[in-house]
Amino acid sequence: MSLRDSIAAPMVPVRYRVVERRRETHDTVTLTSVPDAGVDALEEPRPGQFHMLSAFGVGEVPISVSGVGPQGGIEHTVRAVGANTEALDALSAGDAVGVRGPFGRGWHLDGAAGMDVVVLAGGIGLAPLRPVIQHLIEQREENRSVRLLVGARRSEELSFTSDLAAWSEAPGIEVAVTVDSATREWSGRVGVVTNLVEDLDVDAPRTVAFVCGPEVMMRFSARALIEFGLLPEKIQLSAERNMKCAIAHCGHCQYGPLLICRDGPVFDYPELCELMEVREL
Ligand SMILES: Cc1cc2nc3c(=O)[nH]c(=O)nc-3n(C[C@H](O)[C@H](O)[C@H](O)COP(=O)(O)OP(=O)(O)OC[C@H]3O[C@@H](n4cnc5c(N)ncnc54)[C@H](O)[C@@H]3O)c2cc1C
Repeated sequence: MSLRDSIAAPMVPVRYRVVERRRETHDTVTLTSVPDAGVDALEEPRPGQFHMLSAFGVGEVPISVSGVGPQGGIEHTVRAVGANTEALDALSAGDAVGVRGPFGRGWHLDGAAGMDVVVLAGGIGLAPLRPVIQHLIEQREENRSVRLLVGARRSEELSFTSDLAAWSEAPGIEVAVTVDSATREWSGRVGVVTNLVEDLDVDAPRTVAFVCGPEVMMRFSARALIEFGLLPEKIQLSAERNMKCAIAHCGHCQYGPLLICRDGPVFDYPELCELMEVREL
């Protein structure tokens, strides 16, 4: 590879092909993609990393890896909120999709060894946490409690419902789901996800937490977990800022002194807590 090619490589999307499309909610789909014929698979992503996904002819956006399948298949769960995500949402099996990455610093799973674990997700924030839960189930430790707390605005907006059902059957893991506002069909818990923290039965000082969701939810969740007794440095959050290059060149994802693409998206809470108190940053 020439020097020019190797410099350009991280910016050049690799052609993948969608092999499966699963609808999660009215505006969210999970796409499974594999390298197109004759194309080398990208490096296997670590939990918490993201790709830049492009719908050709429309544009490119950061999307977390929500799972890794056989034969280099990768899963991304996309919520349609604008032009790019709507174009990705419209892809069907057989369509081409551009993929760059994986990028960013993922979840530090080593820190969870021998500890109780709380996984706290709000809405589409469950997507980058799904590989964490799969990892915790695969690397099950006896005497360790894993508590998954999931919140959604409404029951119709809950993604990964079949996973949630399967995870609740897995040994050592308990799943609690709440919705902000319920319809008549919903018989589960109602209220914000932070309310679930008070019911936790974990050994707080020996617990790590992985948190992802809207920024306001993460701010309140971190505070609730600390109030419950978790150490701030044992709480990891995944932050989001719009980005263009994903390789620390364009500065779009600057967050105070940090670049989300280079320094994150996963951070220890102490790295973010002051920045999160600044409105509109
Ligand atoms: C590291 C990282 C991982 C991400 N992972 C996922 C994922 O797994 N699944 C997923 O659906 N989305 C994810 N996102 C968010 C996704 O990148 C944005 O929704 C997307 O860029 C929106 O582009 P658009 O052109 O469709 O809409 P735009 O027209 O750019 O935006 C539409 C609306 O969404 C708001 N918006 C745009 N980007 C964001 C953002 N990052 N956070 C909050 N609001 C935003 C805009 O203000 C606007 O109101 C991630 C973002 C980052 C930085």
